[in-house]
Amino acid sequence: MYDVIIIGAGPGGMTAALYASRSDLSVLVIERGAPGGQLMNTSDVENYPGFDSITGPDLAVKMYENSSNFGATHTYGNVTRLENEGLVKKVYCDDEVYEAKTVIIASGSEHRKIGIPGEEKYAGRGVSYCAVCDGAFFKDRHLYVIGGGDSAVEEGLYLTQFASKVTIVHRREELRAQKILQDRAFKNEKINFMWNKVPVEITGDDKKITNLTLKDTKTDELTTVDAEGIFIYIGLDPLTEPFKELNITNEEGWIETNNHMETCIPGVYAIGDVRDTVLRQIATAVGDGSIAGQEVYKYITSID
Ligand SMILES: Cc1cc2nc3c(=O)[nH]c(=O)nc-3n(C[C@H](O)[C@H](O)[C@H](O)COP(=O)(O)OP(=O)(O)OC[C@H]3O[C@@H](n4cnc5c(N)ncnc54)[C@H](O)[C@@H]3O)c2cc1C
Repeated sequence: MYDVIIIGAGPGGMTAALYASRSDLSVLVIERGAPGGQLMNTSDVENYPGFDSITGPDLAVKMYENSSNFGATHTYGNVTRLENEGLVKKVYCDDEVYEAKTVIIASGSEHRKIGIPGEEKYAGRGVSYCAVCDGAFFKDRHLYVIGGGDSAVEEGLYLTQFASKVTIVHRREELRAQKILQDRAFKNEKINFMWNKVPVEITGDDKKITNLTLKDTKTDELTTVDAEGIFIYIGLDPLTEPFKELNITNEEGWIETNNHMETCIPGVYAIGDVRDTVLRQIATAVGDGSIAGQEVYKYITSID
């Protein structure tokens, strides 16, 4: 039995692994993708202390190496269920069942889909949720970015290095993104904006998308534009399906914790983006991870 199982190897999970293993606890980190979480989908990070600018994947590698320095074990697997048997927690992962005294849920969130016709059909054929992964396929194309927050503007700026033009489509009249990102976008000659518009349909041929239809939020007027690529950044949904039965989530599915990262189940913690929190960033996930990594030590020494 492990002292701690951490579900998810994003910045939060990797920090929790560093702290818990440095306290000499036995730690298993389970990750179903590449270690790094959303960092793997992030172009440049400019707001993580200690680095003027670093790419998401480079930061992920550094965090991964760091998280393993004190003996934490990483394994690949998709967690489908967590069972609470009091002092023992069972983590169901593919064909395995792992046991631990404590569990830290660090499963993060995923991009929200718009849910319009054509979105699913053309995913990977012109519709993308990851500029870092797919941007280079769109050299000299006119791209549309849907959204008005930090991710939309940041990734829109990133796409200008490949695209001939980037149009940011936002449902409001002004962006939500940080001022510094807005200023850069407004100054960038390759970026233009379509305000008060929401996408209603994506159409194309057998191979790829050709058009995007937008509706004006004020007049309901429909406009169809030629589109060669659409990048969607409209928000996040929590990845909490495996934990639904435990009643630790709020109505929207985010996990509720106190300041110690404890859920209402003793020995079960949640950190980072998956938590009901006010800011979903690398620095906050790392902060949560350090608290949980320390709290599990206190909990285990109190029950042993
Ligand atoms: C495009 C983009 C740009 C961003 N730019 C910045 C930025 O510049 N600065 C900044 O501070 N933040 C930025 N962020 C936000 C930042 O990346 C996140 O806040 C941070 O990664 C959250 O870390 P986390 O560990 O909580 O979750 P995540 O990074 O989401 O990691 C969660 C991990 O859990 C794994 N997982 C989920 N479910 C399971 C399961 N059932 N079984 C096994 N593994 C599972 C996932 O595969 C994932 O690897 C950006 C995000 C995006 C998408």
